[in-house]
Amino acid sequence: MSQSFDRSDSLQQLQQRKTPWDLVVIGGGATGVGVALDAATRGLDVVLLERFDFGSGTSSRSTKLVHGGVRYLKQGNITLVRDALRERTLLKENANHLVHDKAFLIPCESLWQWFFYGVGLKVYDLLATGNSFGRSKFISARRAVELSPAIRRERLRGAVLYHDGQFDDARLLVDMAITSATHGAILANYMSVIEIAKSSDGIVSGVVAVDTETGRRFEIAAKSIVNAAGPFGDQLRQMDDPKCEPMIAASQGVHLVFPKELYPGDTAMIVPQTSDGRVIFIVPWHDHAIVGTTDTAIPMAVPEPVPQTQEIQFLLETAGEYLTRRPTIEDVLSIFTGIRPLVKNDKSSRTASLSRDHVIKVAPSKLITISGGKWTTVRKMAQDCVDRAIEIASLSAQPCSTTTTKIPDSRSTGIAQLQRDSPQLADLIHPSLPIRHSDVVWAVQNEMARTAEDVLARRTRMLFLEAQASIEAAPVVAGVMSTVLGTDQDWCDAQVSAFERTAQNYLPHR
Ligand SMILES: Cc1cc2nc3c(=O)[nH]c(=O)nc-3n(C[C@H](O)[C@H](O)[C@H](O)COP(=O)(O)OP(=O)(O)OC[C@H]3O[C@@H](n4cnc5c(N)ncnc54)[C@H](O)[C@@H]3O)c2cc1C
Repeated sequence: MSQSFDRSDSLQQLQQRKTPWDLVVIGGGATGVGVALDAATRGLDVVLLERFDFGSGTSSRSTKLVHGGVRYLKQGNITLVRDALRERTLLKENANHLVHDKAFLIPCESLWQWFFYGVGLKVYDLLATGNSFGRSKFISARRAVELSPAIRRERLRGAVLYHDGQFDDARLLVDMAITSATHGAILANYMSVIEIAKSSDGIVSGVVAVDTETGRRFEIAAKSIVNAAGPFGDQLRQMDDPKCEPMIAASQGVHLVFPKELYPGDTAMIVPQTSDGRVIFIVPWHDHAIVGTTDTAIPMAVPEPVPQTQEIQFLLETAGEYLTRRPTIEDVLSIFTGIRPLVKNDKSSRTASLSRDHVIKVAPSKLITISGGKWTTVRKMAQDCVDRAIEIASLSAQPCSTTTTKIPDSRSTGIAQLQRDSPQLADLIHPSLPIRHSDVVWAVQNEMARTAEDVLARRTRMLFLEAQASIEAAPVVAGVMSTVLGTDQDWCDAQVSAFERTAQNYLPHR
């Protein structure tokens, strides 16, 4: 049964339900929404609860690559790469309005490097057989500069060109959430799970959640529960069993966003050798260039992670070694930081070598925790997780069909219609940002945007692209939202202050 993607409808359904749901999913990141989509398309009664906004955690802060992971080849993780390459194709087929091919350059400073990376990429091609986005090839230094005009010519002996996918993570997430509702899932943001309920035999029987907008408490009964809280997964596991050993090692990754002029052209670049042993990417995205990422172990996950000065410095210096003009902090338009929910493998303390595979762990209470993996492989992660839930809770469900489940564009035609109906909605919100009043109205009416941050950070990507201009735009965004939501000036003022506070973490402090 198709459900509306409307928060008050969702809350009403939660309130009225008399029987247990088949499945409650905790966490509205890529993993949780993937699980909700899989479960709903199998005909299960599924509820997803997200304590902040959909995608407000790691899932809006990725490098935006749909990829097999060239660097995992170097680690010899062939199965991981091959599976991810297959998922890359499926995601492009199912969400082709948001996932597209991107050419990447690997600059080489010696014939040996040229040979080494060239052969490595041929292996990548081979693993992508049947799932290719385009074959890799050796190119001359001259051709490399034509494709990527900002690349430093001295020391360049040649390059290898290969193909991977690129996407808009938060937009895909919202479209996946809407698609799951179309297939019958009930989703609500700003619903924080505060307790895991159990029956007398110690088996999970539901959750207690709080609507963080009103403080209202919901007791939601369920036959199975999936903990998809990403970097916060251990908090949920400890709600279930205070003595359980933590399984997640948090590591943060910072990205710097530059104006397009710093890195013109459409071809991305991968810097294969950096001083911390990982690769960094310089990727054109939404008419800007993203440089990232770092991999810094942090003691614990926080909802709004803060970039460290040395991470910013590392990215500026490493990019500077490969670009004609060395970027400085003055060039940075926005900085965003995400936390990897890596799964500990006890033997290793270096986060760059912890498992990138997903892990599904079932507690004695039958709480199912899913963690690790990556955006690209979320469909497969969800399939494995729902298989486990069906088995554990003896749910009756159809086979998985998400290899062919389409995730359609939920907004283009709707926004165009809004502008035809009310031409003033085509006005820009801010002279330097490509968003219009219609984007805001659409996000509130159809995409469950509840705050100015939801609109500026995830329904549109302005905070990630232009932090200062987004702060300037916040009062207008809040004003438009307020008209649609029927809220007052106090609400607008609170939105603007809250947004300014969050946006400080995205501003380069000069
Ligand atoms: C820097 C970086 C770059 C990356 N780049 C790529 C890339 O280019 N390509 C790729 O494929 N992958 C990439 N990844 C990996 C990918 O982004 C992650 O694997 C994925 O986003 C994790 O999603 P998640 O749903 O598990 O976690 P999250 O997105 O963090 O979602 C967990 C959610 O649970 C919610 N939650 C927590 N506690 C509660 C509670 N009590 N009640 C309700 N909700 C709760 C949180 O608010 C959060 O929204 C990258 C990761 C990082 C960190």
